Amino acid sequence: RQEPQSLLKQPHAQSRIGKVYGVVSGKGGVGKSMVTSQLAVTMRRKGFRVGILDADVTGPSIPKVFGVHERARGGDNCLYPVESSTGIQLMSVNLLLEHETDPVLWRGPVIGSVVTQFWTDVIWDVDYLFVDMPPGTGDVSLSVFQSIPLDGIVIVASPQELVSMVVEKAVRMAEMMEVPIVGLVENMSYVTCPDCGKPIYLFGEGKSELAAARHNLSLLGRMPIDPALAALADAGKIEEFSGNWLDGVTTALESN
Ligand code: ADP
Repeated sequence: RQEPQSLLKQPHAQSRIGKVYGVVSGKGGVGKSMVTSQLAVTMRRKGFRVGILDADVTGPSIPKVFGVHERARGGDNCLYPVESSTGIQLMSVNLLLEHETDPVLWRGPVIGSVVTQFWTDVIWDVDYLFVDMPPGTGDVSLSVFQSIPLDGIVIVASPQELVSMVVEKAVRMAEMMEVPIVGLVENMSYVTCPDCGKPIYLFGEGKSELAAARHNLSLLGRMPIDPALAALADAGKIEEFSGNWLDGVTTALESN
């Protein structure tokens, strides 16, 4: 039996951090950053102080969807997050690179230590900190689980992923690291017909209920493929999104 190793780190002495939630997925491109951003925006709209720690170092998309292109400032052994237009605190490798289009050519351990520094060296002042985790259950995910004390995780999956083993692996990883799972979000579940308004379940209906039941998880939300949402993300205007698909998640976070 593998024992989870705890290497939990203290945040910066000047940080004030309430709850910390990780958003995870089995693989990339299923909308993990989309869900992270919407959760942050929703909690901010409710009046909370909110931050996003972008731990998806090799595919950082958080600054882009918030339309933030300035560099993060550093102080004496510390870093300040960059604020979005509604005041969400953001930290991402993309806010540190000279050119946002530069690839991150670091190996796993270096990436892991950068993510840990986003926890230990950044001065956060938040009620809720969302961690956009790297996809999958690789070494960077492991170092996030080991070094940042997560109050819970939200698992994001597409309908196809729900029937594969990747969700199972994410669930098992959380269990082994003894981090509670807040619940499951199914993304790209359906499209709404622009003419009649009926949902079209491209990949079949009911898979999320089955997957949730199989893993003993609560199914907290189901988000359609929405061209308006994709356009907002591309334009760096995710703070203007409307839609209440994730209200089940934010309610669960608030009552946690
Ligand atoms: P991940 O973080 O899992 O790699 P992203 O959140 O970056 O995935 O999403 C991948 C792409 O799909 C992005 O361009 C994003 O804007 C788009 N996208 C994600 N979810 C939706 C959705 N429900 N409707 C429309 N576009 C979406």
